[in-house]
Amino acid sequence: MEATRTTCPYCGVGCGVLARPDGTVAGDPEHPANFGRLCSKGAALGETIDLPGRLLYPEVGGKRASWDAALDAVAEGFSRALRQGGPDSTALYVSGQLLTEDYYAANKFAKGFLGTANIDSNSRLCMASSVAAHRRAFGEDIVPAVYADLEQADLVTLVGSNLAWCHPVLHQRLMAAKAARPQMRIVVVDPRVTATCAGADLHLPLAPGSDVALFAAVLARCADAGFAAPGMEDALAVARGIDPGLTGLAPDAIATFCDWFARTEKSVTLWSQGVNQSGAGTDKANAIINCHILTERIGKPGASPFSITGQPNAMGGREVGALANTLAAHLDWSVPAEVAALRDAWGAPNLAMGPGLKAVDLFRALGAGTIGALWVMATNPAVSLPDGDGVRAALKRAPFLVVSDCTRESDTVDAAHVRLPALGWGEKDGTVTNSERVISRQRAFLPRGGEARPDWWAVAQVAKRLGFGEAFAWDGPAAIFREHAALTALVPESRRAFDISGLAEISDADYAAMPPTRWPVASRGAPGERLAPAARFIPTPYRGLAQPGAPLTLLTGRLRDQWHMMTRTGPLPRLMAQAPEPELTLHPDDAAGIADGALVRLGNAQGSAVLRARLDAGQRRGSCFAPMHWTARFCVGARVNAAVLPVVDPISGQPELKGAAVAITRY
Ligand code: SF4
Repeated sequence: MEATRTTCPYCGVGCGVLARPDGTVAGDPEHPANFGRLCSKGAALGETIDLPGRLLYPEVGGKRASWDAALDAVAEGFSRALRQGGPDSTALYVSGQLLTEDYYAANKFAKGFLGTANIDSNSRLCMASSVAAHRRAFGEDIVPAVYADLEQADLVTLVGSNLAWCHPVLHQRLMAAKAARPQMRIVVVDPRVTATCAGADLHLPLAPGSDVALFAAVLARCADAGFAAPGMEDALAVARGIDPGLTGLAPDAIATFCDWFARTEKSVTLWSQGVNQSGAGTDKANAIINCHILTERIGKPGASPFSITGQPNAMGGREVGALANTLAAHLDWSVPAEVAALRDAWGAPNLAMGPGLKAVDLFRALGAGTIGALWVMATNPAVSLPDGDGVRAALKRAPFLVVSDCTRESDTVDAAHVRLPALGWGEKDGTVTNSERVISRQRAFLPRGGEARPDWWAVAQVAKRLGFGEAFAWDGPAAIFREHAALTALVPESRRAFDISGLAEISDADYAAMPPTRWPVASRGAPGERLAPAARFIPTPYRGLAQPGAPLTLLTGRLRDQWHMMTRTGPLPRLMAQAPEPELTLHPDDAAGIADGALVRLGNAQGSAVLRARLDAGQRRGSCFAPMHWTARFCVGARVNAAVLPVVDPISGQPELKGAAVAITRY
């Protein structure tokens, strides 16, 4: 039985997988992300093919329906909302689990034809702060680095990243490089001792939310060491005004790190959700990038800032503009010629003319009754967004809710008026882009489950019923990809980094066989490697946590062997064995009489969750940690986001998921 070359559906490393219908999987030795490696989740993919609780047939009003009846109902629901409330009373909430072609179709439908920019992605919870920081520093959402830079660097600083658990294959590559070159230094900047610290030369357990103060100290130290660059004055003046003591770190530890950074030419600073999921996430990312601008370490071998993000389609949604504040192909809303070019390319009758509601505001609007029709795809906001109880109530009150998913068992699916069965991994066909700009194919190697169909197809069918069929007349994902690639040529060459116009004429056969391909892929020249964009300094004043930590600051995050809401990983005993139940990690000094293993309630006026206490001296005093994964399907009452306030970064709109003020009581 021949193996199909496809891509792992979990994290943004984007590992290549060789998969067979009998469930045999192996790492793809030819894929440039993993060269044959897989982590525990990826290696178990074959055991998760028979997903329990699949949504296999369309449902309307809780009853099985034909696709025609379900699509008619969706079209009627959106028509009604358009008639009664206009374009902005409609909305879509999509996901980094979608393939780029599905993402593209949803974004075109909303922004070009419904006429609303009220389409946001659960990627808002993942990398919106980095996108905003890139746009401020580089003028475009550009990730300059590639994975090989981690192997070539002499100093790798991991900020707010438990790389060993959250991007395991990348961590394996880093550890292999460190074994080959022990002189390479690794620094982990994280309030708690994580698995990643085991391979580090220095751990800086800074106070939650204080990253800007640390990188202000680095910027000042680099300037003192003689680095200088045009335009640095304002950012440097702001940095010099910030007290490094805000980090809570020992002065000699800060000095050591600053010295290492200033002296090491080949330096990569990688950051993830500890930076992004913050009320000051954009400033934190810009504070890091500032240090790389000053030392001219951007997009060079072994020297770059590097944002690593979470989902399998780490960049696809950013490329097609499926965030409420972005346009397709990195086109710029503030440039009328670019907006007009997109309108003409799409033949869009009603192009949205400015940003729409970002995730938290979108669900606030749903709760307030100003959204008449919402379509959710491949995500469970009732669990993943802050104020989980408020989101759940808003979904229940929604006048018209459509959910496309491959599972029947989610809080969001439960609330839907129309349920559309989506294809699962192994059934879908399209592309994803990983954290180093590599576009890979996800290929089907399994028969479709029940009556499940592609998400792009469902969008096109609804668009047709609303009278827009001509613009959605694709015969498959290759046609969508060509249209998406062609749009990238609309961006003026002077500021066009995301360029895949060289793939705009790709044939169906070449699309089917497309190897992993890193952008840019311009119509002229070979596929790109590193990018070295012109950059500008952004002053980053210090702002602490928006939800001050009294008495404890709750940090949330991933476990090594679970993925998001556990739909695929939770039913597998082998993966569940790593952490059979949700635990709250506390420093023993914060336990206040609570014994290791006792059940505790964590919470505040917003909401609460019940978990088992685990006392660990590696947890920073004054903070606690809980995994984000648990839904009622696997453990009732352990949804920690119920206790997280819907506070967002004012620039990126990304929620502060690491920073809720909670109290702990015995249960
Ligand atoms: Fe999948 Fe990420 Fe593991 Fe690679 S590192 S196998 S992409 S979960």
